[in-house]
Amino acid sequence: MTLKSLQQKDRDHHLHPFTDHLQLSEKGTRVITKGKGVYVWDAEGHQILDAMSGLWCVNLGYGREELTQAAYKQMQELPYYNNFFQCTHPPAIELSSKLGTISPADLNHVFFTGSGSEANDTVVRMVRRYWQLLGQPEKQIILSRKNAYHGSTIAAASLGGMSGMHEGGLPIPNIHHIAQPYWFEEGGDKDPDTFGLEVAQELEHAIHHYGVENIAGFIAEPIQGAGGVIIPPESYWPAIQNIIDEHKILLIVDEVITGFGRLGQWFATDVYQIKPDLIPFAKGVTSGYLPLGGVLVNDKVTDVISKGGEFTHGFTYSGHPAACAVALENLEIIERENILEQVKNKTAPYLEKHWKRLADHPLIGEARIKGLVAAIEISNNKETRGRFSSDISAGSICRDIAISNGLVMRAVGDTMIIAPPLIISESEIDELIEKTTTTLDETNRHISSL
Ligand SMILES: *Cc1c(COP(=O)(O)O)cnc(C)c1O
Repeated sequence: MTLKSLQQKDRDHHLHPFTDHLQLSEKGTRVITKGKGVYVWDAEGHQILDAMSGLWCVNLGYGREELTQAAYKQMQELPYYNNFFQCTHPPAIELSSKLGTISPADLNHVFFTGSGSEANDTVVRMVRRYWQLLGQPEKQIILSRKNAYHGSTIAAASLGGMSGMHEGGLPIPNIHHIAQPYWFEEGGDKDPDTFGLEVAQELEHAIHHYGVENIAGFIAEPIQGAGGVIIPPESYWPAIQNIIDEHKILLIVDEVITGFGRLGQWFATDVYQIKPDLIPFAKGVTSGYLPLGGVLVNDKVTDVISKGGEFTHGFTYSGHPAACAVALENLEIIERENILEQVKNKTAPYLEKHWKRLADHPLIGEARIKGLVAAIEISNNKETRGRFSSDISAGSICRDIAISNGLVMRAVGDTMIIAPPLIISESEIDELIEKTTTTLDETNRHISSL
């Protein structure tokens, strides 16, 4: 099949997620046909360095034979069975036990789902049920943050704080959003730590405003991903944890992106030393080879939920055997190959050294990074952290030039973001930096010529 006929069929029959179809129709879809390591190839044979790991998930890179074999073997043995009605199967047992071992100390149970969105829908039902079983059914409100991303189902999109996703009656009742710790955009002339503390105080204010007797919990990504890789100031998380402890509401830390090694430890909660009650996860748990998500639950919440009769919630594919087998192998490879240590002590510091220098580029107002997730801010004035007019679409220009240079970066407005596979080598990081620099030079020339 030729590229043209593939694109035509796609146009005729395929509705894409998060896509403007008129724009897509003009440009034609990019058809990706294979992957190996940190690279993907399109239908015309172009080799592209995938600095986004697909959608933040292909952490072990493409073409890992062991992951394919794990799925194949499990599908031959038992392709499907459910975990409803007092049944289970070895892959779900082994994976839940493994997750209990690597997760923070008191999170020892897992509820499986098929995705991150389903994990967050599960969170909403589980925390409300928790308070109901404790005799405090009025504790319904879940606080979240503006510009958060927690998925696309009705409840997950409600938890999310992207106004564009709230058309058609969202958020559902009893979900409210407070400010985000986005210093570059909203910090004004405060220093980052002062700003971080102020934004954390918004949680305290919201608890008083709605009444602690009505609040079930607070949900947040340790680092906002889809919102633009927003790394909070160091002062932020300790202040949030204090407020959580003081008011004894549940803390839900959405580790769908940060879980399984992105920051050089199993979980970002280990890195930030926060104490979540629940951790929704997905993406990197299987390196994206098969869909799987879930919620890690601490002993306190598990005790209440598991003694409270039937929790009438679950998905046909909760703990799908093939997905669990792939996840188990994925986690074992991370251990066998010391990937966490490699990220923490080698590749993340190496990338950081080079990435931070991008802030010297005339087009860049800030370069920030934590582990293997990073952002650069395109700015027309470094001093004032100014932005180009939105009809220039500097971010989209930069993204398109990156692609033509063989590099996948994502644009969130004028913020360029990356989250490369955890197996990226130092020489591949050199290539990533070189391609980014060329892309910024070309973007700068392009914008100047407008
Ligand atoms: C991607 C993402 C989700 C949603 O996961 P899906 O598998 O796409 O449903 C939830 N939370 C965060 C932080 C994400 O990045």
